[in-house]
Amino acid sequence: MRFDVLTLFPDMINAALGDSIIGRAQSKGIIEINCVDIRDFAGNKHNRVDDAPYGGGRGMVIQSEPVFRAYESVARGLDEKPFTVYLSPQGRVFRESTAKRLSKKERVILICGHYEGIDQRVLDEIVDEEISIGDFVMTGGEIAAMAVIDATSRLIDGVLPDEEAYLNESLSGGLLEHPQYTRPPVWHGVEVPEVLRGGNHKMVAEWKREQSIINTFNKRRGMLSRANLTEEEKVFVAKLKK
Ligand code: SAM
Repeated sequence: MRFDVLTLFPDMINAALGDSIIGRAQSKGIIEINCVDIRDFAGNKHNRVDDAPYGGGRGMVIQSEPVFRAYESVARGLDEKPFTVYLSPQGRVFRESTAKRLSKKERVILICGHYEGIDQRVLDEIVDEEISIGDFVMTGGEIAAMAVIDATSRLIDGVLPDEEAYLNESLSGGLLEHPQYTRPPVWHGVEVPEVLRGGNHKMVAEWKREQSIINTFNKRRGMLSRANLTEEEKVFVAKLKK
């Protein structure tokens, strides 16, 4: 899968996604992250890409033309229009299901705004979907783009060393994950639950499922109504409520 990120700050993206799992996925050629500097398409000697907003107001707005040219530099000549996302606090909130949907695409263009945002006209012309990473406003779309790339890439075959890992992850099955423990067996006087050290796979699986439900109940109760629970588990939840 290939991500083209249109940004004024490509170094931010390259620095953050060059290491660890996503860095290795790039080295192996499973994913490709291509940053395009919008400023390279300024078309003026001062490399200026923003201007004051029409109608007044504070801040600056990124102009349509450099964004459009940056977009064309990656989209021109392709058989199909690449799916194009504008990272924006006005978008639909990014969820695991969004990551799953994006991970099925061969190519996604991510557009990062800055300052007061981007001229609406170019957005109307090229953007297929606006995505927000939460109900808060950041100074730019780069961190949002990185979150989208990271969460999407780890769902692509071969990116995680063990693909089983993400199947049990929080949110993937409508529940949060169970707590995790590693060595030492006792830390600050607190023991790792005995069942995890016992080696009985069936009991471990049962413990994990039950802890998953308890975790979801305690932290994100609203998710339980949408989770796929057995009748027995529903009774268990009812008991937790009491
Ligand atoms: N004036 C814009 C508005 O009120 O909708 C906000 C602009 S914001 C300061 C600058 C840029 O940061 C946006 O163009 C967008 O790309 C990015 N951004 C800010 N918050 C975001 C969020 N929650 N999710 C995704 N992108 C965000």
